[in-house]
Amino acid sequence: MSAASSSSSAVFEGLLDAGRQLESELVAFRRDLHRNPELSLQESETAAKVAAELRALGYEVRTGMGAHGMIADLIGPVAGPTVALRADMDALPIQEETGLPFASEKAGVMHACGHDAHTTMLLGAARLLAEQKDKLRGRVRFIFQSAEEINAGARLMVEAGVLDGVDEIYGLHNLPTLAAGKVATRFGSLMGSVDRIDIALEGKGGHGAIPDQTIDPVVAGSAIVMGLQTAVSREISPFSPVVVTIGKLHAGDAYNVIPHRAELTGTIRTFHPDVQRTMQERIERLAGSIAEAYRCKAKVTYTEMSPVLVSTDACVAHVEQVTDALIGRDNRVEAAPTLAGEDFAIYLQQVPGCFFWLGSGPQEGAEQAFGLHHPKFTLHEECLPLGASLLAAVALKRLSAG
Ligand SMILES: [Zn+2]
Ligand SMILES: [Zn+2]
Repeated sequence: MSAASSSSSAVFEGLLDAGRQLESELVAFRRDLHRNPELSLQESETAAKVAAELRALGYEVRTGMGAHGMIADLIGPVAGPTVALRADMDALPIQEETGLPFASEKAGVMHACGHDAHTTMLLGAARLLAEQKDKLRGRVRFIFQSAEEINAGARLMVEAGVLDGVDEIYGLHNLPTLAAGKVATRFGSLMGSVDRIDIALEGKGGHGAIPDQTIDPVVAGSAIVMGLQTAVSREISPFSPVVVTIGKLHAGDAYNVIPHRAELTGTIRTFHPDVQRTMQERIERLAGSIAEAYRCKAKVTYTEMSPVLVSTDACVAHVEQVTDALIGRDNRVEAAPTLAGEDFAIYLQQVPGCFFWLGSGPQEGAEQAFGLHHPKFTLHEECLPLGASLLAAVALKRLSAG
C-alpha cells in the first residue's frame, strides 16, 4: 500500500473487502458454470445466466453480440473516457477428470481453461463498480464474449461494434502455475500469434513395391515436415521465438499402397508481429518447393487466427500501479512470455489496453496444480474475489477523479 496515496488506498481497501464479502456467492456462481460448461459458440445458457445477473444489478444488457456475447455499460455522472473490461465464457472439448463434487455434468466438455472463473470475476466487478457508480468520470463497458478457445469470439465482438467508443480495454487470465493472490504483468508482447496452415499434397498412388511408377506424397510430406523447421532454425533470428508444429499428418490406408494424397495441418506461433507477417511467404515457399522437388503438387492454405498479444505500455503501468496498491508490490511478478495464444489480442489491435495473469494455483512449495487445458485442471477459488476487485479497481482508478 505504500505507493498509494491515503485516499486511493482507502478506495482500494474498500474494493478488496467488498470483493471478499462476495466470495461465497462468486464461488457458487462459478461452480454452477463449471457444472454446466458449453463449447465455443454454444454458450447460450451461460450467457442467459450472466445476462440475468447483470439485469438483477440494474444493468441494461445488449445480448446476442458475436454469437452469445453481450455488453453492459455503467455510466458515471460525469462524462469521461470509456474503459472496457472483458471476460470469456466458453469451455473446451475435454472430459473432466478432477473428481470434484461440482465437476462437469456434460460428457466431453469441461471448463479446463477457467473461463467460468473469468466470467464470474467480471460479474463480481460489475457488482462492485455498480456500488461506485457516482465516483465514475466516464463509462465502464463490460464485455462477455463467446468462443475464445477457437479464436473466433473477439473478432465477432469487434465486428459487432463492442469497441465503438471504447478508449482502453483490460482483461485477465487465471494462471495455475502462479499462486493465488499474485498477479503477473509484462510490458509489450505477452502471448504469441496463432496461425494455421493446411497443406494438401497431390502425388500419384500405386503399388507399395513399385515406387518408380508413383509419385509418393508420404515421402514429400515427411520432407516438408522436416523442411519447415528450417524456416525457424535458418531464416529467423534465434532471439525471436517461433514455433512451427505439424499436429496432423494424414495419408494412406494400407501398408503396401502408396497413396495419391497427403494432408498436413499445423500451427505457427510467433512473438513479434513483424515476424508473423513473414511466415506465410516462408511456409508457402518451403512447402511449395519441397513438394516440387519430390514431383508433388502442394496447395498451401495459410490462415491468420490471432495476432501477437501486445499490451500498451501506459496500460500495463496502470495495471501494475493498481495491483501494487491493492495487493502490494511483493505479490506482483513479471510474467514469462508464452507462445500460447489469446484472442484478446484482437481487441488490442484496435484500442490500447493490457492483458495480465491472475494467480490461481497453489502456494509456492505445494504440489503443483495441473495446467490449463488439462483434464485435471483446477483453480483456487480464492482468486475469484481478488479478480473481481482487481478488475473493478483497474476501471475505477482510471475513471476516478483522484
Ligand atoms: Zn484456453
Ligand atoms: Zn483461456
